[in-house]
Amino acid sequence: MRKQVVGNWKMNGSTAVIDEVLDALKTERHAADVSVSVPYLYLGGAVAKLAGTQYRVGAQNVSEFGDGAYTGEVSARMLKDVGCSLAIVGHSERRRYFAESDEAVIAKLARLLEVGLYAVVCVGETLAERDSGRAESRIEAQLARLHTLMARGAGPDRFCIAYEPVWAIGTGRAASGDQIAAMHEVIKRHLGASYAVLYGGSVKAANAASIMALPGVDGVLVGGASLDAREFGEICRAAG
Ligand code: PEP
Repeated sequence: MRKQVVGNWKMNGSTAVIDEVLDALKTERHAADVSVSVPYLYLGGAVAKLAGTQYRVGAQNVSEFGDGAYTGEVSARMLKDVGCSLAIVGHSERRRYFAESDEAVIAKLARLLEVGLYAVVCVGETLAERDSGRAESRIEAQLARLHTLMARGAGPDRFCIAYEPVWAIGTGRAASGDQIAAMHEVIKRHLGASYAVLYGGSVKAANAASIMALPGVDGVLVGGASLDAREFGEICRAAG
């Protein structure tokens, strides 16, 4: 399976950062599938800049509703219309700060699938859940709802999973190799080995190659380091 590298800029970036990071990215070809998920406002600019390259542009969220009277929302159709190729759904920051439920995540995934956009579905446990031995059951509960969509034809070409332990995101403390390999095995056992499972949580140039060499790791979801052209380039190289 080709490795995937998905950058998540979160609510960071500017037209200047788009120029700096994406211009640097364009100078190289990578063996992996590489995408950058930028804030909604910058999607059009990023799509224009990466036109004709191997790189794809993604969103970090999508509305759970179709077009209509939902002020402030952005629909899956609109993402597709501006040339976006994928979207992240269920990121823990959205679950935590915007009270996004497992049901809402599935509704968002369904909207993406309807218009043919690829989805990166984030799952992950909190530190309290891990410390109390509930990490696996929390992940399985998040995955369980996917089966309805899988039964309706959502195959491995339509979405992947990003395993992102909440305690590893933006903390500089990546999960250990054993923790990552064990949870990726759980996810693949649950969904099937053909679904790509990415790891996310404090991935940097320094640990990317060893994480991607672990069994069951099909790529990485990169937050902070994806805003640094040099770091991100090295992570993409490590994926090759
Ligand atoms: C993320 O935003 O999904 C993420 C994994 O962040 P970081 O790489 O900064 O931990």
